[in-house]
Amino acid sequence: MRTVIPLMILGLGVADCQAPPAPPKEEPVTERLEAPAPDTDGILRVLVLHDMEGLSGQDDPRTFDFDHKDRYAEGREHLVGDVNSVIAGLFAGGADEVQVVDGHGSGNPEPDLLLDRLYSRAQMVFRDKPFRQYVDLVEPGVYDAVAVVGMHAKTGRRGFASHTYTLGIEILLNDRAITETELVAFSFGRAGVPVIFASGDDRLGADLATMPWIEFVTTKKATSASTAELRPQDEVRAELEAAAQRAIGKRGEAKVMRIEGPIKATIRAVPPASLQVLEGVPGIDYKDESVTFLAKDFQEAYDGLIELIGVATTNYSRVLVENLRSSPEGSKFLSEYNDQLVGRWLDVESGRWTPPAPEPPLEGQRYHGAR
Ligand SMILES: [Zn+2]
Repeated sequence: MRTVIPLMILGLGVADCQAPPAPPKEEPVTERLEAPAPDTDGILRVLVLHDMEGLSGQDDPRTFDFDHKDRYAEGREHLVGDVNSVIAGLFAGGADEVQVVDGHGSGNPEPDLLLDRLYSRAQMVFRDKPFRQYVDLVEPGVYDAVAVVGMHAKTGRRGFASHTYTLGIEILLNDRAITETELVAFSFGRAGVPVIFASGDDRLGADLATMPWIEFVTTKKATSASTAELRPQDEVRAELEAAAQRAIGKRGEAKVMRIEGPIKATIRAVPPASLQVLEGVPGIDYKDESVTFLAKDFQEAYDGLIELIGVATTNYSRVLVENLRSSPEGSKFLSEYNDQLVGRWLDVESGRWTPPAPEPPLEGQRYHGAR
């Protein structure tokens, strides 16, 4: 914006005026682009993080939602095909190991990826405790590169299913709205790991002008947030493989994105989310559906943003209530719910009920993400 305004003034013929245009305001440089950390163990290990909205052959939002069983099954086919094409390219380019992590979370207790169809030399990341895919796999000397597959544009970009983190959320770091791909890049940047590859719709391609070293494959053209113009799927898959192969070849030229603290972190909500409940709370910097805070580093910014997302998404229940009010069965459900709320209060007040302790992670259970 700052560079555009002086040009507009010149265009209006104000150029004769003697006063030089004000220099752009000096801002602290908090983002740095660096060369990737060297591969210390001699094993070129790549993490593939997949989402599920930017897949080839996909133009129906029900395909990434576990609640729509039939369409979701189609989405899983698109997913395993795109992911396997990328993995094949990574190995062809010289990767020694490829691990895959589920960055989507469709609501399925199992990974969205069909594991019996996963490229045989690749492994899915499992842990014995729930973990946060964007931040808990970041350790120095483990991964040498990250490839993101099936990603989407950020909130407000009219991309296919465009959003940031979850429905109705926009995330800004130092006043710049970022995509999930950039969130991943900043997180892995802490360990010197670059994002070298991404796939998604044309709107994501435009968003990622911030990361010009990325090998990007356009899987489809968004025509609205819920519709897309598809490209022939085998053509896209061939490109996914070729681009992933190239990405490995030029890993040394890729950039690590580092963001230093203090970081100004902002979350902005749009429907169905809202942050309005925080208006007027002392100590909270709330304005126009946005909350801003200063974080000492990326982790603190991320943690704070996630907590605020938790607040903003409580507004989803308005849609539920609207929906329930519109039918007799729904209204009946709402009045039972109200009785339950009152019952819970009276039970707690009488000492008849105490909240159960949070369930510990199950022994022997494997987790593929936060749930
Ligand atoms: Zn996503």
